[in-house]
Amino acid sequence: MGVMSPRILIIGQGLAGTALAWRLWQREVPFLIVDRNESLTSSKVAAGLITPITGMRLTVSWRYDVFYREALRFYRACGKRLKQRFFFPRGYVRLLKNEAEITKWHKRRRDPDMQPFLHRQTPELNAEVIHQPDNGFQQRHAAWLDTNTYLESSRRFFESLDSYATADVKAADVRDDTNGVEWNGQRFSHVIWAQGWSAEKHPLFHWVPFQSALGTILTVEVDLQGEQRILNRGCWLLPRNDGTLRAGSTYEWKFDDPNTPSADQVQTLEATLRSLLKVPSSITASQTAVRPIIKNRQALMGTHPTHPRVAFLNGLGSKGSLRSPWLARHLIEHLLDGAPLDLELDLQGNKV
Ligand SMILES: Cc1cc2nc3c(=O)[nH]c(=O)nc-3n(C[C@H](O)[C@H](O)[C@H](O)COP(=O)(O)OP(=O)(O)OC[C@H]3O[C@@H](n4cnc5c(N)ncnc54)[C@H](O)[C@@H]3O)c2cc1C
Repeated sequence: MGVMSPRILIIGQGLAGTALAWRLWQREVPFLIVDRNESLTSSKVAAGLITPITGMRLTVSWRYDVFYREALRFYRACGKRLKQRFFFPRGYVRLLKNEAEITKWHKRRRDPDMQPFLHRQTPELNAEVIHQPDNGFQQRHAAWLDTNTYLESSRRFFESLDSYATADVKAADVRDDTNGVEWNGQRFSHVIWAQGWSAEKHPLFHWVPFQSALGTILTVEVDLQGEQRILNRGCWLLPRNDGTLRAGSTYEWKFDDPNTPSADQVQTLEATLRSLLKVPSSITASQTAVRPIIKNRQALMGTHPTHPRVAFLNGLGSKGSLRSPWLARHLIEHLLDGAPLDLELDLQGNKV
């Protein structure tokens, strides 16, 4: 059989697969996206935070500028097409935990790469609501993505194009040769596995050094007295547009069940939240899922070393909302146009 014109099978409708499908739609390339419709996945549970200055080291997140600009354009364009809002730029206040962190921040804040992300004014938090509201800084170009609304409305759109199917795809049922791929009686030019942490068990990708982490996020009831910004000291607190709040999140590197957190992790998170808030709060729900993380990598993508029609996009870690729009475009340009992959992200360069 000859080489067919592009028609791409995407497996997984998380943040990775959804961005891939949109990129193909934008280029008018036909696709089928298949998802097994689990109720708790990393993308459905995620808070969707997009934050420039992160972590204990207080540094600007890897290539933030490039990813953020692309994410902004991408989510706005998708939202416009779907007539739905799910991307919300937001102020983000990071409160410093202790003297060591304050000292570190005084050094860091002068770094030239920080400047575009620093708000000039001090955050001025309400001392009736927040414990120790001083010693913080406000970040610019932060946002949050309502992942459920984005995923749901995108799924409905792909369904309306006859480009969506619900199925649990078995690796053995996807047959490939040098010209293309076959699944469920249909031919495709490529398959892209965008299946999150469960790729650990995929027979073609088990060599990828996954180091995925279980994460829990809480739904909280609290009266923040009008505060709309995202707050963070030890944990983050997100006031969502629907009036609910989320707080999180935990990282567990060893776990037995992908949706059951260990009690002590959740208790620590609750205690951190109480140390942030002066006003009473109650936790009304919690959700747990596994973030797909690849050891020492920001993400990996590309085709399999010996199966040229089988591609992969994974390892989005805690940054799927920020990075998936750029990463998806990059992979599609590689598959369709032969554009070279960024060496840091190339699956084949990271073979072990
Ligand atoms: C508690 C928590 C908090 C988080 N907070 C944030 C945050 O604030 N900001 C942020 O950017 N990111 C956050 N993340 C991480 C972010 O969500 C991930 O980067 C992202 O979800 C990864 O998306 P993915 O599409 O690669 O994987 P997934 O979300 O795991 O998507 C994979 C999809 O593929 C499906 N699938 C798998 N195998 C098959 C198969 N064989 N057949 C059919 N379907 C299949 C799954 O059911 C799933 O729907 C958080 C994650 C967690 C767990």
